[in-house]
Amino acid sequence: MKKSLFIAALLSVVFVSCDNEKKLQEVEIPDALLTDQVKSDENFGNPAAVKAEGKFQMQGLKYGYDGLSKVIDPETVSIHYGKHHLGYANNLNKAIVGTPMENQTIEEILVTLDPANAAVRNNAGGYYNHNLYWDVLSNTPQAASPEFTQAIVNNFGSNEELIKQLKEAGAKQFGSGWSWLVVTPEGKLVVTSTANQDNPLMPNAVVKGTPVIGIDVWEHAYYLNYQNKRADYLDQIFEIIDWKTVSDNYTKAIAKK
Ligand code: MN
Repeated sequence: MKKSLFIAALLSVVFVSCDNEKKLQEVEIPDALLTDQVKSDENFGNPAAVKAEGKFQMQGLKYGYDGLSKVIDPETVSIHYGKHHLGYANNLNKAIVGTPMENQTIEEILVTLDPANAAVRNNAGGYYNHNLYWDVLSNTPQAASPEFTQAIVNNFGSNEELIKQLKEAGAKQFGSGWSWLVVTPEGKLVVTSTANQDNPLMPNAVVKGTPVIGIDVWEHAYYLNYQNKRADYLDQIFEIIDWKTVSDNYTKAIAKK
C-alpha cells in the first residue's frame, strides 16, 4: 500500500470511530499522522474552503466550525454551513443562469422575485437567510449600541420582551422556518416569522421589512444537540447573539429607508 493511501485509510478509521461517539471535537490526530498534503487540504475543517459555483459566493464565517460551541456543536455548524447553506448558494446560481437576475443583488432578487418561482424563492431565501444567521452569532458576543438599545426600549419596552417575542415566534412557527427581527418601511422594529426559506423582503411576506436578526428554526439547525426540543435551542441561542452586529444591521437598515 502506498504511504499516502495508508494514511488516508487510517484517518478515515479515526474519523468514523469519532463520529460514532459524537466526540469529533475532542479527538486530536497526532501531528505525525498528518502529511503536508493533508495539512494543506483546503477542506480540512476549514469553512473558508467551502466554495459555491456561480455568481453568489459563500461569505465565509467569522469563526471556525467550533466557534459557536457554547450553544451549537461543530458538527452541526459544519454540516449546516458546508452542506445546507452551500446547497442553497449553488442552486440559486443555477436557477438564475440566463435570466436578468444574474445582474441583480441578492436583495434586489428577493424584493422582486415571483413567489411562484419555487427554485428562486427557496434558494435565494436560503442563501440570504443563512448569511444573516451566521453573521449575528458569536461565542463572544458584544453589547448593543446606545442607538439600538434605545430603539429596543421604544419598540418593545425591554430587551427581555424582544427576546420573549423572538422565542415565541420561532416556537410557534409550524414546521420549518425562521424567526425575525425586522425594520419596517416605517422605521419600526417588529418581530415576525416565515415558513421554509421565505423572508420579510419577499413580495409575499405578511410582515415586510429589512431583517436585522434571523434565527433558523429548521431541525437541521439544532437536531444533533437538542433533538426535537426546539424550545431549548431557542432558550440557548440568545447566549450567542452578537448585539453589536445586530446594532450595525439596524443602523444600515434605518439608513436605507
Ligand atoms: Mn438552515
